[in-house]
Amino acid sequence: MPLQEVNFPPPKFGEPYLLTPGPLTTAFEVKEAMLKDWGSWDGEFRDLTKKLRSSLLSLLGPEKKLYDCVPIQGSGTYAVEAMLGTFVPKDGKLLVLANGAYGLRAAQTMDYLNRNYHLLDKGDYLPPRGNEVADILENDKAITHVLVIHCETSSGILNPLEEIGAVVKSAGRKLLIDSMSAFGAVPVDPQRIEFEAMVSSANKCIEGVPGFGFVFAKLSALQASKGNCHSLSLDVEAQWSAMEKSGQWRFTPPTHVVAAFLTALEIHKEEGGVSGRGARYTNNRDIMVSGMRDLGFETLLDEQWLSPIIVTFFCPDDQAFDFQKFYDFMKSEGYIIYPGKLTVVDSFRIGCIGRMDAPVMKGVVAAAKKALGSMGVKSAAPPKIALMERQRLSELKE
Ligand SMILES: *Cc1c(COP(=O)(O)O)cnc(C)c1O
Repeated sequence: MPLQEVNFPPPKFGEPYLLTPGPLTTAFEVKEAMLKDWGSWDGEFRDLTKKLRSSLLSLLGPEKKLYDCVPIQGSGTYAVEAMLGTFVPKDGKLLVLANGAYGLRAAQTMDYLNRNYHLLDKGDYLPPRGNEVADILENDKAITHVLVIHCETSSGILNPLEEIGAVVKSAGRKLLIDSMSAFGAVPVDPQRIEFEAMVSSANKCIEGVPGFGFVFAKLSALQASKGNCHSLSLDVEAQWSAMEKSGQWRFTPPTHVVAAFLTALEIHKEEGGVSGRGARYTNNRDIMVSGMRDLGFETLLDEQWLSPIIVTFFCPDDQAFDFQKFYDFMKSEGYIIYPGKLTVVDSFRIGCIGRMDAPVMKGVVAAAKKALGSMGVKSAAPPKIALMERQRLSELKE
């Protein structure tokens, strides 16, 4: 299906586009929806909460009847901590599959919770694979749950969720998913990937503003987790039972953020839901990546692992390249980019998500070209060591 040229209006106040993985550039209508005040206990706001939960649930498809959706105040990390604290039992053990900052953060959360875990750390970006997960589960019967990061936003890799889900299921363990940066644009269908719980947040692919996260959990998991959480405010089961009873959040909800999110959900639906949103982001990525490659930049990942969410590029080897100057120039042209998170080589990231379309991505490439010229960078080619890193990854191809 060819993508329609949408041509979104530019940010109203001339603020730069956020080529970052959330907070991101939002539609004017989303911001406008925050102009009204709501009483948190009032029936009208309770209706918003109800609609929020049911609209999100319906994105799961027909299996949604096995699940419920529970919003949690705070940023995405709060929701991850809430999921881990609520669903990994005190005497359980979690296998954390890490290949970047967010996997490591989940392991650090388990340290704080004082709960048992095994960390598979694949370094900056190598994907955890089904066979190695199967070996670990075979050798450690104490493991009850497995946490996978869907899109590891620190490199932009799309991890092999289905492959891992199948292994976890056949080993009889429970799958927890951090789909923070992918949910809403990359399908997660519980008919294909059976998960116990999954988290995302308001300010990623649904294109709302920051203020809450949400947990999808099996009803059976919610019912079984009473009293399990280490924290009062992050207890998903307690939030769920209270919401079921009163229709209210337990503590002050981010009312304006919820109102904005409902507008964002309507826009998401009009765009064609998960597949429509995913198609626009993929188109954004393809335009941006091919333009950057034409300038001589190289991506960390090859096509097989690139997500439509965010892309890591190596910094050029050319002595004249300076990331801070590059960043400042891009900003002056109206684009905020993101520093990289690789430990071995210098890199930067450009996001594809948010209220941005093809003309914006072309503008990003044109600005990068101007930036190279202004710094006097003759070649955007990365250093040799970067290409060696790439080689390691391509050897993984089956
Ligand atoms: C954004 C994100 C989070 C949450 O980060 P916050 O800064 O707390 O919102 C967690 N996991 C992944 C993969 C993310 O992209």
